[in-house]
Amino acid sequence: MITKFIKRILRRDPMVKHTQANNTGAPKRIPKKAHRIDPHLLSKNAVKVTHALQQAGFEAFIVGGAVRDLALGISPKDFDVATNATPDQVQRLFRKARLIGRRFQIVHVTFFGKGHPEIIEVSTFRALLDNAGDHVAESGRILRDNVWGSQGEDAARRDFTINAMYYDPSSETVLDYHGGMADMQKKTLRMIGDPAKRYREDPVRMLRAVRFAAKTGFELDGATRAPIAKLGKLLNDVPSARLFDEILKLLMSGYSWAAIQGLKDAGLHHGLLPLLDHILDTGADSKGANDFVKLALANTDERIQSGKSVSAGFLFATLLWPDLLKNWKANSAKGMANIPALHDAMDDTIATQSSGMTIQRRFESDMREIWSMQPRFERRVGRYPYRFIESPRFRAGYDFMLLRCATEELNPAIGQWWTDFIATDVTGQDKLMAGVKNESGSSPSPAKRRRRRKPKAAVPPESAAS
Ligand code: ATP
Ligand code: MG
Repeated sequence: MITKFIKRILRRDPMVKHTQANNTGAPKRIPKKAHRIDPHLLSKNAVKVTHALQQAGFEAFIVGGAVRDLALGISPKDFDVATNATPDQVQRLFRKARLIGRRFQIVHVTFFGKGHPEIIEVSTFRALLDNAGDHVAESGRILRDNVWGSQGEDAARRDFTINAMYYDPSSETVLDYHGGMADMQKKTLRMIGDPAKRYREDPVRMLRAVRFAAKTGFELDGATRAPIAKLGKLLNDVPSARLFDEILKLLMSGYSWAAIQGLKDAGLHHGLLPLLDHILDTGADSKGANDFVKLALANTDERIQSGKSVSAGFLFATLLWPDLLKNWKANSAKGMANIPALHDAMDDTIATQSSGMTIQRRFESDMREIWSMQPRFERRVGRYPYRFIESPRFRAGYDFMLLRCATEELNPAIGQWWTDFIATDVTGQDKLMAGVKNESGSSPSPAKRRRRRKPKAAVPPESAAS
């Protein structure tokens, strides 16, 4: 009854024109025994979405990265659904559905359960750009921006063969238009169509190639890899915000160290993060910096792989720290006082970074906060440490400081002291304070020289450091 009603309502919609199916060919239908996808790895909500759409008479599949991950036996972090229903038709089927985007409308269907709400992203099969061209002139803006196509076209405009498979949870069948499953078995990452043309259309696909290779451990197919050396410079024309999103995905993939090595091998690291330029290019010269970044990335990968959260601000703070440290030391060598030298170095580091790829403001303020906390760990006098550990962002600064200790850029005894300090009670803290009087830690600034000339500046004023 309800299904019939829904179908009737939906038919009142003026159907948005779908382009003619082009010669993208019939998909290979892969049955369960061949793809071996474990239905337990499916999101129940994604299955609810495909079922509801199918019940209403539409085609609906789980698509893209989720199918790739399922076929790899990995639990996907999010689920996308592709359908021949238009966004309006999708929206009417679900209570919590929101139309997102103007150029490319998609629908976010939200489910509230235990824990975080889950968003299933539902997109309508989209036409290939070449075919859409005809619609542009005659159909006006809306149609130009939302030209729907056949499933075959939708598959052809995706990036890699392993990202272009469609899974129907009802029949447990995978529809494979471009040999994605065979490539999975060969552990090959292959671009659909002519790779050079696809990179020119969207240079970000080069970064995606590196990210997926790191994540899956697959090899880039020769023809997919070959044009990257020549076309890498096209990344310079990509808007900074988009580049930032993709780099963030790469760093948060759980395989960031492998991905960064992949960027280096592909020659794609120039201009993305200045630190990558000199760390990856200078190798042994910057061993200390290299160790620090490597450790930070390994730490991030481990956290992500074990399902823990990672703060992007913290991560960028670590990636730019070697640069910052160099600038800080240079400022101190010029005779600047410790804290102004640090703040000046922060500005310089961020300005240099922004000339390549701007880091979003909200992350930038986290970075500044973490960095400016660092000198405070060397200030173990009076009531200061007791107050410091109460500050809301102490933990981020402390974790960062421990990384510095792990690479011995900061005296590891200082890290141990703070670890003990936060683990003990007031009596224990008093004892630790008494013990610190004769001890001295390492500092990146020439504190001793400064102390002789300007005794008061040796201990940073609390306000300047917060
Ligand atoms: P992840 O696990 O990182 O989310 P993903 O493959 O799901 O990987 P998304 O960025 O979420 O990556 O994109 C979803 C799907 O959309 C991809 O699998 C691919 O089919 C398609 N896609 C995304 N970006 C592009 C692009 N730049 N060019 C072509 N197809 C793309
Ligand atoms: Mg995805």
